[in-house]
Amino acid sequence: MTLPEMEERVTSLGQPRYRAEQIFKWVYKHGIDDFAAMSNLPHAFQQQLAEKGFATGVLTEEGAQEAADGTKKYYFRLPDGLHVESVYIPEERRKTVCFSTQVGCAIGCAFCATGQQGFVRNLSVAEIVDQVRTIGLERRTRITHAVAMGQGEPLVNYEATLKAIKLMNADYGLGIAARHLTISTSGMVPAIYRLAEEDIQLNLAISLHATRDQIRSELIPLNRTYPLSVLIEAARSYAARTKRRVTLEYIMIDGVNDGDEDLEGLLTLTTGWLSHVNLIPYNPVPGVDYQPSAPATLRRFFQTLQRHNVAVSIRQERGAEIEAACGQLRQRLKLMEKR
Ligand code: SF4
Repeated sequence: MTLPEMEERVTSLGQPRYRAEQIFKWVYKHGIDDFAAMSNLPHAFQQQLAEKGFATGVLTEEGAQEAADGTKKYYFRLPDGLHVESVYIPEERRKTVCFSTQVGCAIGCAFCATGQQGFVRNLSVAEIVDQVRTIGLERRTRITHAVAMGQGEPLVNYEATLKAIKLMNADYGLGIAARHLTISTSGMVPAIYRLAEEDIQLNLAISLHATRDQIRSELIPLNRTYPLSVLIEAARSYAARTKRRVTLEYIMIDGVNDGDEDLEGLLTLTTGWLSHVNLIPYNPVPGVDYQPSAPATLRRFFQTLQRHNVAVSIRQERGAEIEAACGQLRQRLKLMEKR
């Protein structure tokens, strides 16, 4: 719930409006989920909340793996017994959580472990927000950045993702600056236009991964519905409307999207608008027959784009040894369950 929704709920239970803010402080600032421990609430109200089935924390940590660089991957059980995963990425000045928005995913990207599992269901607002809140509490740190880049296509679960992001941003919620919140999409064009009209200045990242329709359709089947010309038009429109730079994610896969023609394509697609290319070394997924591009190829892409004044970065590989690409831990644990 947002604070106004909670205020409405507590007043309908015969309590003053400020009780809502008290509850929010316990939940978001102190990490208390047990109503009985919320010591400034009247005892009868504590009981009423529990009896009426209100719940705060909705996730149970069932497994985690930590890499030497501090990247930690969490495997959470949801209230209905399904599982989802999230990744914590600590850096000197930022603490990022990469969160999931769906169990499984219907998009079926060829390079992605989650895509191989198919779609199960959307996550609720609480299940999305609680990934970021729980990790901040467990790490005893203030999460400064959050990215919808875990399992699922966030813009398919549009309403819940947006509401969760607004709760992450709100002062009474997790208090993460809007410019530190990112939604990453595989290219849901109508939702990109919708997002541009929202009253929150988010970052948008688009999984580009190819500059030719034939290759992109092989990697991301959604490209058959929203091909590159339509997608880039939507991205340009988003950048123009929000005045924010759109990130184009580009996973570099050996012999698939790392040739001269692809580099030329990147130069063409990024000309004349507020974009930023993020080159990502491919992180091999068990059962998927792709290999990362050679480091020299990655460097050549980076240097050529830079020479042509394209804003470009290389995503530092984090937590490779703990399989921190989306869906990998979940997939491995499932395999172990089957054995
Ligand atoms: S990369 Fe993202 S959109 Fe594509 S299948 Fe995986 S989770 Fe879904």
